[in-house]
Amino acid sequence: MQDTRDEKLNTLEQAHIDFISTVSHELRTPLTSIRGFADTLLSSYDKLTPEQREKFLLIIKEQSNRLINLVENLLTVSKMQSNKELLIYKAVDCIPLIESSIQMIKNQYKTHKYVFNYDKNLPKILVDTDKFQQILLNLTDNASKYSNDNSTVTIKVSQNFNENTVIISVKDEGIGISNEDLSKIFNKFSRIDSPLTRKIQGNGLGLYITKTLVEKMNGKIEVESSPKGSDFKVIFKAATPEDNGINKIKE
Ligand code: ADP
Repeated sequence: MQDTRDEKLNTLEQAHIDFISTVSHELRTPLTSIRGFADTLLSSYDKLTPEQREKFLLIIKEQSNRLINLVENLLTVSKMQSNKELLIYKAVDCIPLIESSIQMIKNQYKTHKYVFNYDKNLPKILVDTDKFQQILLNLTDNASKYSNDNSTVTIKVSQNFNENTVIISVKDEGIGISNEDLSKIFNKFSRIDSPLTRKIQGNGLGLYITKTLVEKMNGKIEVESSPKGSDFKVIFKAATPEDNGINKIKE
């Protein structure tokens, strides 16, 4: 009995140590780069050309954004794990929410094409609207980030009448994910290390957060992938007439 308890504590302690070590590494890389470029600007400002100065300042800005994303993701994970976050459920038409998420991503990836198709007369779904948008933003951002400029990201919403569900698919023409890696991508801090992904920035928390949020809202997430691209689907039950009109608060 004592042995099993000790083993559990050891596993928890190890998970805690691994977590701190991963976070420290994720923080150190951008911070080292920010300090390095700030030092160079301070010590050699007059010797640098205006182009070099601008380039270094842009790197500092990019690395600061990377840190902000990491901290925001860590706060989301911490709130989700402490189960203190209240979700406000509402029966909503998901189309305007998806449209506004696509618009936000479009502003960031100016050369990608975005195609949005949806069935007519879709039923409402019961979700927390902010969290639903976060899911869509994460999936559409990944679809854009892991595919070439000028490629197309297709977002499709359909209804499965037999299952009484609404299916949202985010499909890209990007680098794809191998079968072996598909089992890992939803784990915390999981990034696929390949020459294709190494240049792309991320912290491996987006899909962990996405899956946790989808499941908290009683949905499912599925993925199919090939070297021609990936298709992430999130599936939610259609709202019932009783779900209309009232806000339900659940942990
Ligand atoms: P990251 O911040 O690294 O993008 P995610 O948790 O969102 O973290 O994704 C985990 C990993 O899954 C990514 O590092 C990437 O290797 C892979 N991945 C996620 N989405 C896609 C996609 N649409 N196409 C190819 N690979 C993807």
